[in-house]
Amino acid sequence: MKRFLIWVSFLTLPLLLCGCGRQEPQRLQDVDTAMGTVIQQNLYVLGEAKECPEEILKRIRDLEERTLSWRLESSEVYGINRSGGRQEGFEVSEELGQALQTCLKLTEDSGGAFDVALGPVARLWDIDGWASGQRTGGFRPPDVRVLTQALECSGSGRLRLETSADLGRDGGKARLYMEEGTMLDLGAVGKGLALDRILEYLQTNDAVLGSTVSVGGSVLTYGEKPDGTAWRVAITDPRDVSGSLGMLVLEGQWCVSTSGDYERYVESGGVRYHHILDPSTGYPADSGLCSVTVVTKEGLLSDALSTACFVLGREKGMELAGQYGVEALFVESSGEIFMTPDMEKLFRGKSDR
Ligand code: FAD
Ligand code: MG
Repeated sequence: MKRFLIWVSFLTLPLLLCGCGRQEPQRLQDVDTAMGTVIQQNLYVLGEAKECPEEILKRIRDLEERTLSWRLESSEVYGINRSGGRQEGFEVSEELGQALQTCLKLTEDSGGAFDVALGPVARLWDIDGWASGQRTGGFRPPDVRVLTQALECSGSGRLRLETSADLGRDGGKARLYMEEGTMLDLGAVGKGLALDRILEYLQTNDAVLGSTVSVGGSVLTYGEKPDGTAWRVAITDPRDVSGSLGMLVLEGQWCVSTSGDYERYVESGGVRYHHILDPSTGYPADSGLCSVTVVTKEGLLSDALSTACFVLGREKGMELAGQYGVEALFVESSGEIFMTPDMEKLFRGKSDR
């Protein structure tokens, strides 16, 4: 009997010790604004990791202030937009060089439907300004002649990016040459790039077990929930934005981006003018879609492809999604939903739940 008790204590002691040292995961939630949008964080962490939401916000704001803003003098895009026509070009950071390289490839692959050199046209419409209420006094679409001039100054054909062979391997260089009058607008990839920066931070932080971070229309899922259930990301109903069409059920790390005509728009004369522009016309894209959601591992790609697919429409958008090996869900103006085959495994419509 004595021997049996000794054995029992010997076997249970390590378990008890483990139990004593085990930390219970805590849930941290945070809502704030950056990049002109709402940032929602939901993190499961071990121990004292209260700084995580602040660190994540810092990275998003840094990306905006140092790299992407077209309004803040501190950013690279601001500097580049003032460098149009400069013979010696503009030396860009490795981060922006890589992003531009991917964007220029997507411009080619989308037949020009996606274009980060659409700045003159986007600033002329300024849908963001009207939609956010910063501009008041009665919206009117731009004058056709002025729009034509802005279109002539736009397009990636007016850019040339020279990169060293080691770009992306720390230390690589990139130089951008841009014709006078052209302006960059990375609004279509900013939130996705933010997801990539957040992911880098989370991957080096052992305290974070799992999280979802939503940067406007782009959502990052990462790691696991303590209860072992999957992440759920709602897809907004484009015609009733207070409701959802269904959920994406995702395990582990994913980036989900949605581009829709309901996110930023202004109405005039019964017409909805939204912020996703067709580079072939200079007008808001009219491809028969009201939203596209793309799911893939990289934020820059999910964000860029959701915009590109929106402009291309369902058929060509499906082809592009297939070419890049990503999952996509298209909502047509009629309300009909179409998906890539593997998206069907991730999506639970309202009636499936
Ligand atoms: P997405 O579909 O991902 O992108 C749409 C945006 O991409 C458009 O708003 C336009 O900027 C651009 N775009 C439109 N058509 C195309 C196309 N065919 N190809 C490529 N791009 C296209 N973002 C910045 O990057 N820098 C800023 O300085 C900045 N300032 C802002 C200030 C305010 C007050 C607000 C409200 C927003 C600001 N933004 C800025 C955000 C930006 O303007 C867009 O609103 C936002 O990026 C839209 O993201 P989305 O995910 O909704 O749409
Ligand atoms: Mg986008």
